[in-house]
Amino acid sequence: MSATIDISDPLDPAAKAIRDLIDLEGGPLAPGALGAALRNDDFLHAVMSVTFLQETLNAVSSANKGPSVTLHLTRSLGVGATVRMIDATHAAVLIPVGTLARMRVMHRLLLSNWNRPGKPPSVIASVMDRPVNRAAPKGLVPLLTDAQDDTEWWTALDALDAEISLDPAFAPDVSELGHLSLSLLIGHEFAHVLRHHPDIRQRVRAGDLPFEVGNDKDRRPGTDVELRRAMEGDADMVAAYMAVATMVGQGRKAGYPLSRGFVRLGFAVTALFGLFDPRRLSIMDYGRESQYAHPLIRYSNYMDDFGDCAGQVGAADDYEHNADFGVLKCQTSLSWIEADIMLDQRFGGPVDDDPTIHALRHSEAFLFTLARVQQEERALALRLGTLITEAYGEFQLARV
Ligand SMILES: [Zn+2]
Repeated sequence: MSATIDISDPLDPAAKAIRDLIDLEGGPLAPGALGAALRNDDFLHAVMSVTFLQETLNAVSSANKGPSVTLHLTRSLGVGATVRMIDATHAAVLIPVGTLARMRVMHRLLLSNWNRPGKPPSVIASVMDRPVNRAAPKGLVPLLTDAQDDTEWWTALDALDAEISLDPAFAPDVSELGHLSLSLLIGHEFAHVLRHHPDIRQRVRAGDLPFEVGNDKDRRPGTDVELRRAMEGDADMVAAYMAVATMVGQGRKAGYPLSRGFVRLGFAVTALFGLFDPRRLSIMDYGRESQYAHPLIRYSNYMDDFGDCAGQVGAADDYEHNADFGVLKCQTSLSWIEADIMLDQRFGGPVDDDPTIHALRHSEAFLFTLARVQQEERALALRLGTLITEAYGEFQLARV
């Protein structure tokens, strides 16, 4: 089954369906639609990464008897990707160009602190959130919010990008971090299809499939919100496995050091969950009714799954310490940025004296809550995983 499609073909109904979807998601990319933050080589790298990911997803999908999948860029500025079935054998993933541009600027910003000497002064962020709706510092609005329209957004993002001074030696890291983040995002979206989530949900609702939570005498039918969170957890797990298997396969083929790959993977997942949760709430204020687990939980689960998958593909030694080092470097950079906002009025300074820009803050007091909630969320996803395996068979990693 071919994974390519000419979406301009006027006679192909699948092509028309994809064109319609792209129109719904901000429209097609037009010449001149891109700002300076994602131009020329940077854009070409992003397109190469999308092309490569399309091949990888098709390999995994075919190993699991899933549909063929095509990836399409849209003009939308948002963060994230969406997946839609075009027909029974073809899924389309739509990727907003804004996601690619934001990731590039975010990684440049974070890497600009990589060689910074000393330790960031600790700017104490409250464990409780006040206010619950936290505004972003002015200069970071285009990175962290959806508050601006097209023209205003590109101008503001370009200004932020131009303000970052980063040694050109980091260029390969910027592209590779973008590639890994995209691989996590798209892997997650496609996992919903590959793991039959919509189908499972219908069958659970119709009473054809039991989704039960809790142990022994506390066992009960799971709520719809729990099922949704289990699906998000399951999609994260599959995305983590696909990202590691792909990175390791690619690294071995190209003779690329896997240790560096894991440093980048740890860095990328921290940045993704740290900065792209629009509410930036602490775990204490997140709410148990959310469709997603808190970013801190999701990122911790990703790290565990990276390690498990590294073990399965014989790369446990490369994972060990390196992924954690990447996490630490990213967290340190986040702290530097907050310190700069607070103490140097960078990016326009703090709003309401609050320099908090990310959701991954924690303290000793959090660790108990974190461990407990992480265990509960993991149990939900594993229970769903068992249902999926029983109904559709074991998930297969493809050889890349
Ligand atoms: Zn999802």
